[in-house]
Amino acid sequence: MDGRFLKVYELLRRAHGPRRWWPVTPPGETKPLYTGGPRSDLQRFEVAAGAILTQNTAWTNAARAIENLNRLGAISPGAIGRMDVQSLALAIRSAGYFNQKAKRLKTIAAHFRANRKMTREGLLALDGVGPETADSIMLYGFKAPFFVVDAYTRRLFGRLDLVDPSASYEEIRERFERNLPRRVFVYKEYHALIVEHGKLVCRKAPLCEKCLLKKLCLMYLERKETKQGRIG
Ligand code: SF4
Repeated sequence: MDGRFLKVYELLRRAHGPRRWWPVTPPGETKPLYTGGPRSDLQRFEVAAGAILTQNTAWTNAARAIENLNRLGAISPGAIGRMDVQSLALAIRSAGYFNQKAKRLKTIAAHFRANRKMTREGLLALDGVGPETADSIMLYGFKAPFFVVDAYTRRLFGRLDLVDPSASYEEIRERFERNLPRRVFVYKEYHALIVEHGKLVCRKAPLCEKCLLKKLCLMYLERKETKQGRIG
């Protein structure tokens, strides 16, 4: 096991605190909140819907679409099944690509209606569900230990030189899973922390001076060496 994966996790927790993903709507409310993840079948379906809605857009846009669906009483496999695709597309327009996402929501709602047991393979067979979406649903919705990989993961861990950012999704997922204790709580928090760090610190133009990972970071150390070389 490469201990640096756990070390980075601990430093990110120190930097950003507990994240309590995935946001879901508490009973009687309309807004998804970070309360530690789903506790009911309805909330598990909401995680799946959210994973579709947040494809290629920021969570805030997906959250607005979920709020709208909540106001319409439509965030359940049955209600989405009954809605016509145009009304659904209109309700989720804040999430972008709304015609495509409306069809995907219908597909996943039908899948939830037809299957009591959710599997990664079953989700991956659905139109519009790639590995990142499937693993988000499995991990945050069903507490299954699949590490979620996204663009923030590739960028941050490529800079740290802990993964090859051009490797396949499965290669990167397996590398994390080999080097971490197999604990759902750690996988859930770790992915959320990577997203937070990617948004706030290890941005496209990184804010390295603010970063707790700099002593471990190849990109930072290389830049520092180049700077010192210029001065020397
Ligand atoms: S030191 Fe800079 S490049 Fe390295 S992880 Fe931190 S922000 Fe990213």
